[in-house]
Amino acid sequence: MNLRPEEISSVIKEQIKNYSTKLEVSDVGTVIQVADGIARIHGLENAMQGELVEFPHEIYGMVLNLEEDNVGAVLLGDTVQINEGDIVKTTGRVVEVPVGDTMLGRVVNALGQPIDGKGPLDTNKYRPIERVASGVISRKSVDTPLQTGIKAIDAMVPIGRGQRELIIGDRQTGKTAIAIDTIINQKGQNVKCIYVAIGQKASTVANIVNTLEERGAMEYTTIVAATASDLAPLQYIAPYSGVAIGEEWMENGEDVLIIYDDLSKHAAAYRTLSLLLKRAPGREAYPGDVFYLHSRLLERAARLSDELGGGSITALPIIETQAGDVSAYIPTNVISITDGQIYLETEMFNAGFRPAVNPGLSVSRVGGSAQIKAMKKIAGPIRIELAQYRELASFAQFGSDLDADTKEKLEQGARIREILKQPQYNPMAVEYQVIIIYCAVNKYLLDIPVDKILAFEKGLFEFLDTKYPEVPASIRDNKEITDDNAKALVKAIEEYKQLFAKE
Ligand code: ATP
Ligand code: MG
Repeated sequence: MNLRPEEISSVIKEQIKNYSTKLEVSDVGTVIQVADGIARIHGLENAMQGELVEFPHEIYGMVLNLEEDNVGAVLLGDTVQINEGDIVKTTGRVVEVPVGDTMLGRVVNALGQPIDGKGPLDTNKYRPIERVASGVISRKSVDTPLQTGIKAIDAMVPIGRGQRELIIGDRQTGKTAIAIDTIINQKGQNVKCIYVAIGQKASTVANIVNTLEERGAMEYTTIVAATASDLAPLQYIAPYSGVAIGEEWMENGEDVLIIYDDLSKHAAAYRTLSLLLKRAPGREAYPGDVFYLHSRLLERAARLSDELGGGSITALPIIETQAGDVSAYIPTNVISITDGQIYLETEMFNAGFRPAVNPGLSVSRVGGSAQIKAMKKIAGPIRIELAQYRELASFAQFGSDLDADTKEKLEQGARIREILKQPQYNPMAVEYQVIIIYCAVNKYLLDIPVDKILAFEKGLFEFLDTKYPEVPASIRDNKEITDDNAKALVKAIEEYKQLFAKE
């Protein structure tokens, strides 16, 4: 699955051949030093940041450092063939990736080259991987939900189309699981998905591809993979390649979801590159421009105005923390440039509360405008009740006598926590989320033992589907809880509770 250096050269050569415009002038320089996959070149006064330069033997490099008397480029090819004194030419081009619907169902590397053995891509359309983000004027505010299908998120930290919501947590807290479930939940929603894997093991990526294939989600998904064994420059460019693929769809008026899994490893690849380029290391040995690394990437998520077609890119970057430390350099940077974060907690995860979304530390700055009315109306109290529960529960463990009101709050909190549990690969349609949250918030679950709540939920949905399918259908179609469907829902809940009690 990994790209060998000689293959990279042929990929880039192929792409350059496809460029329709002829190059006017090419600047020529000479290699003054080459080591560790980095070449320093003298005489390329007009080279641009990110530009592709051509070495002998059709080996390409990407310009990353522009200094007064030399240019630093990472070699995207077999470095042993490059020597001091070699001639280098600018190409006037930057790295481009193939785009369009041909990318759906495919697994490609950071250069957009297929690595899934399914044959060549059928396209002649390419886009540069770097671009200036859409200005503020052409953007529209977020008003359409991007349903993750995950109760804890859609109810408490709703995500809107065009938003950037960070998924953050320690290792093995279910970060990737949330991203994959969100992709699975886009089936039939007219959202194209891109999953960018950065610095992961090839076997992990292969598992993700299988999972998505089994669930019919590859039909509307592209995977861009730069694994741990790929060269650092490829890990560095992978997310920009991914978003370039997304921009083609967005500018055609379509909705896109892109996952960056994860940006911690992306920053690490960039740090490796920067150290090789001998840039001055700063905090945590990252170069000074590491903020710009992620801000220029996440800027490209947007909801375009109607005049521009109304398309969108929703971005879910993932960051891995060490021992829950969100104040480290990369986490703070990314938190500051996203519209909110889903904070996953190891303690909750280990206690079986999965997905382990911490309700106190997770926020969505877009909030209720990214929820359907029905959800907005009922989900409000959940966070407060959970916060109260946490507080009261820590008192209650001292075994003091509790008044009835406190007892009820504890009972209620425990039930809300329970309904937010959800197994992996089981995204739930929003109308069913609304129904179970309606039950909890309106205290229909208080007389059901906590350990029976998830069984009750399952049974209730089956009961509704067979006996009153019009109830979920009405919530789905109206997006609202009306007097009528609420009455029908309450009747159904009460009926099912009778049945459930007898079981
Ligand atoms: P890493 O730091 O290794 O990338 P991660 O934070 O991405 O880990 P995942 O790989 O998504 O975490 O999940 C870790 C483990 O927990 C996996 O075995 C996964 O199957 C399991 N898991 C994740 N979410 C749930 C869930 N909702 N219910 C049950 N198990 C889950
Ligand atoms: Mg993961």
